[in-house]
Amino acid sequence: MAEPTTNEALYARACAVTPGGVNSPVRAFRSVGGTPYFVARGEGPWVWDVEGRRYLDLVQSYGPAIHGHAHPRIVEAVQAAAGEGSTFGAPTEREVLLAEEITGRVHGCEQVRLVSSGTEACMSAVRVARGATGRSRVVLFEGCYHGHSDGLLAGGGSGVATLGLPASAGVPAAAVADTLVVPYNTVPEIGEDVACVIVEPVAANMGLVPPAPGFLQGLRDACDAAGALLIFDEVITGFRLARGGASAFYGVTPDLWCFGKVIGGGLPLAAFGGRRDVMEQLAPLGPVYQAGTLSGNPLATAAGLASLAMLDDGAYEELGARVARLAAGLASALAAAGLTAQVPVVGTLVGVFFAGEPVTDYAGAKASADTGLFPAFMHGLLQRGVAVAPGAYEILFPGLAHGDAELDLVVDAVGAVAKELAA
Ligand code: PLP
Repeated sequence: MAEPTTNEALYARACAVTPGGVNSPVRAFRSVGGTPYFVARGEGPWVWDVEGRRYLDLVQSYGPAIHGHAHPRIVEAVQAAAGEGSTFGAPTEREVLLAEEITGRVHGCEQVRLVSSGTEACMSAVRVARGATGRSRVVLFEGCYHGHSDGLLAGGGSGVATLGLPASAGVPAAAVADTLVVPYNTVPEIGEDVACVIVEPVAANMGLVPPAPGFLQGLRDACDAAGALLIFDEVITGFRLARGGASAFYGVTPDLWCFGKVIGGGLPLAAFGGRRDVMEQLAPLGPVYQAGTLSGNPLATAAGLASLAMLDDGAYEELGARVARLAAGLASALAAAGLTAQVPVVGTLVGVFFAGEPVTDYAGAKASADTGLFPAFMHGLLQRGVAVAPGAYEILFPGLAHGDAELDLVVDAVGAVAKELAA
């Protein structure tokens, strides 16, 4: 019989054939130390690694698995779709159904185009905004993430509003020369050369940072005054925060949206959408080119439709109640341990910061990460069978598969780890 494999053995093999052993750097344990666990399978809120160890999973693929892993209705939908052929290069009915489902849920989003990743969605939304306005400049917020396309991989300097600097080697300065990076939660001046402002309406890639009261409406007003388009990157918030996403939650309607994660039900699917007159700038109707061999993939649309079918208003109420309970439990466990921490909550979204005051921007998020507490926090949880993403800037992803009993386990584990950290 073949020897059962181990995480160490697989990691060594992975590192030989894949840079850093992972297919997305966020999965690496470089910032926290140690060896990533290799997942053998998942079910509901649990994952098992290749060594048979079970973890209560708060990674949930960084958001898509809102129903937990291997939900029977999603599995069934994907299996049925696979039996009918997995890709055609011609339109299919489920693409129409999914587009109808999205536009039906998100007020003001009249048309969508399906793509395969959030990166593509954001890159394409910006392109259509530039095409529609005939302008080049893009404004984005420090600490927000909009995928890894060149033009959006810009970091700020140390000033208040700075021209973007490449946030990665390989991104030419020219690619971000039109990208302006400004602090989150401050409405910047929008010049008449700005094509669009792209923002995570609730920032969830620097921990969880809620929009300050008036911030999103302020962006809406500033864009309107300058003739710029407002893009909500709802790759995380879309269909997780509320049935109609963050735009419904806050009552602010952008011109364009980016979606991903939940709408693919765990398969590679994302979308961008918006006002009809803007979206009709896209090829084949308009001059803005965008395309994709696997866009609207039949397996992914089947998974997405099955996922959304289970997300009615009741599901959001339920998830919101569980997250509120989890957040209250976490806050009191952390306080009881004497650890200085914040547990921000926005509806169904929750995070943890090691900070004395609520965090409102990237500087605050970085100060939390710079405490250096996160690696021990994450490993302490892992040892207790609770998996959180291996990065200090990630949020927690409880989903509908996490019942009260599972969430109590999380609170107990966090309390125990916090005591060790505070000691
Ligand atoms: N936008 C946001 C807000 C995200 O959180 C992410 C990914 O985490 C992306 C865009 C990029 O999506 P993807 O990883 O599917 O390319």
